[in-house]
Amino acid sequence: MAHTERLYYSDCYLKEFTANILRIEDDPRGMRVYLDRSAFYPESGGQPSDRGELAGVQLLDVVDEGEEVAHILVTRPAGDSVQGKIDWARRFDHMQQHTGQHILSAAFESSAGNKTVSFHLGVESSTIDLDSDRAGAKQIEAAEELANRIVFENRPVTVSFLSVTEVQKLDLRKPTEREGEIRLVEVEGYDRSACGGTHVSRTGGVGNINVRKIERAKGLTRVEFVCGGRALRRARLDFCILSEAARGFSTGLESVPEMIAKQAQELREAEKSQQKLAEELAESEAAQLWQRADERNGARIVRRLFESSEGKRARLTAHAVSRYPGGVALIGVRGTPTALFFAQTPGGKANLSDVLKQTLAKFGGKGGGNRDFAQGGGLPENQIEPALSFAESLLS
Ligand SMILES: [Zn+2]
Repeated sequence: MAHTERLYYSDCYLKEFTANILRIEDDPRGMRVYLDRSAFYPESGGQPSDRGELAGVQLLDVVDEGEEVAHILVTRPAGDSVQGKIDWARRFDHMQQHTGQHILSAAFESSAGNKTVSFHLGVESSTIDLDSDRAGAKQIEAAEELANRIVFENRPVTVSFLSVTEVQKLDLRKPTEREGEIRLVEVEGYDRSACGGTHVSRTGGVGNINVRKIERAKGLTRVEFVCGGRALRRARLDFCILSEAARGFSTGLESVPEMIAKQAQELREAEKSQQKLAEELAESEAAQLWQRADERNGARIVRRLFESSEGKRARLTAHAVSRYPGGVALIGVRGTPTALFFAQTPGGKANLSDVLKQTLAKFGGKGGGNRDFAQGGGLPENQIEPALSFAESLLS
């Protein structure tokens, strides 16, 4: 069986290379091209595949097939010998995240005793899952601190190839189940991992390692983090967002949380006093409406239309009217959404649930309630007044 020599194994900084085409197969996306050697990284071990060009044709994907690497292209590249060009920005970003992951995982292990059970390199951020759901703010800060110290020390990151027996004598962070030749990625004096991924050559190349988010579930802690260019872009974005919030409050960045808490408190107080005022207003209006209404067969029917902004008041008024002897309230709210509130003195003559049902059947909308209080909504706006007239006609 043919075999692809993986050039990235020994040189992660190789951006261009030439190779011979071994064969080309059909693929649902176009062509599946096999080469005798390749610097393109195929998706594996949590690291996404590379992009770039092969003989000037854009790569759609790179797939690990064990002995071979398949390059997916839309069209067939010309010639037997091709030139490959790696999308370096994407690859270097992956190198920063992947080496950052090794450093961060080792930091969690040495500072908190938490082992990494899985790694995912995402488009925006990456995650590692720790084997405990007990990692708290203190452990995270300690691990982040140590990881960044390793970065600042700019230690060499080396790649070597060892036999299984040689590897067994070493203290690997995570035991490997691979057979044959093992690729060992080592951060000098700090971490040894069996890994096929692409890495920066010194820890300084990772740039800052920032933990962004922690989630605990099913005995694990998921740690979201960003490294290097991503950490820079994220910090810039955070700064923009915080600056905008600070401008909105006309304050400094540090005062934003305090201002939010203060405004939330003020809002709660304003809502409370607004509720009290609405209740008082509803009470006095209900008294007037009830007094002005004609008494017929012991009932005083009050009809009133409110604007859409007065929905709360409308409901309170309906209840307030129903507290007067014989009071029956037919209240409507105009605008979007429309609303109807029907209320009567408990034990009154009408069945308001039925009245509402018949009204909605004729004018549209939904709702429900009981004998003494029913509410509905969703009627067309121009149907609110006719609906109230109709409901009143049902009462007499
Ligand atoms: Zn790795």
